[in-house]
Amino acid sequence: MNADLHCHSAVSDGTLEPEEVARRAKANGVELWALTDHDEIGGQQRARDTALALGMSYLTGTEISVSFIGITVHIVGLGFDADDEALKAGLAATRGGRRERALEMADGLAKVGIKGSFEGALQYVGNPELISRTHFARHLVETGVCADTSEVFRKYLTEGKPGFVPHRWATLSDALAWIQGAGGIAVIAHPARYRFTATEEHALFTEFIGHGGRGVEVVTGSHSAADAVRYTDVALEYGLLASRGSDFHGPGESHTDLGQLPELPGRLSPVWDALQDRIQHPQ
Ligand code: AMP
Ligand code: MN
Ligand code: MN
Ligand code: MN
Repeated sequence: MNADLHCHSAVSDGTLEPEEVARRAKANGVELWALTDHDEIGGQQRARDTALALGMSYLTGTEISVSFIGITVHIVGLGFDADDEALKAGLAATRGGRRERALEMADGLAKVGIKGSFEGALQYVGNPELISRTHFARHLVETGVCADTSEVFRKYLTEGKPGFVPHRWATLSDALAWIQGAGGIAVIAHPARYRFTATEEHALFTEFIGHGGRGVEVVTGSHSAADAVRYTDVALEYGLLASRGSDFHGPGESHTDLGQLPELPGRLSPVWDALQDRIQHPQ
């Protein structure tokens, strides 16, 4: 099964509209797809309608920003009811404050001589409630401050750098309550990306499972082959379902394209097996 259950559209920090992401997924052979915009489900209906019209099965999705012991962790929610009021309110609350954060980021950048970055970043924003570091990164590349987005993050947008503003996102328990209250399954996104000690990572997995979390991304565009091997063992150790997703943000920007990922190792239980009754099929 070519399942791609993690990617972004212009409704968050991707560059393509939901319909375009759907068409690209289909062209790349994706059979089961979920659009997982950051803290936002405003693109779900467009994504689902296009997927079904193209003959591709669909799961609702989102990627919620969570603060856990001071570190930002991303939790993917899959297969929820996109009309659930508590989920919608929780995501709206999580989005709130991004604009103020972006203004503070621009102040920090202005102090090192980079003027006008708020207005610059806004030019790349598709959703006014969802201005993200990615939009600043695109602006700083476009204006020649850096050669590519990873250089922008390294020099300007990560902890301790001039454009970094610490932010309080959702709590782990709230994010899981919103996803699960709407009938979905919660998945820890790209676990290898976080800078946790072994003890802290164990705390994350233990608390996540304690709050009802059931899945972990094993094969993702954000993982190396070695990371996938490591988190195969972690999934088995904690008894978690495994997910697979490219984390595609746009052509030429993401190194992993939609659907172009290794298979999940056969020893794992795919998260979509547990979501059979939540999958929307064509026709
Ligand atoms: P934000 O939610 O505003 O903090 O932005 C987080 C987004 O920035 C992530 O979802 C990625 O799309 C992007 N991002 C984070 N770190 C990097 C990096 N090192 N290089 C490129 N993009 C990154
Ligand atoms: Mn992103
Ligand atoms: Mn993420
Ligand atoms: Mn993502």
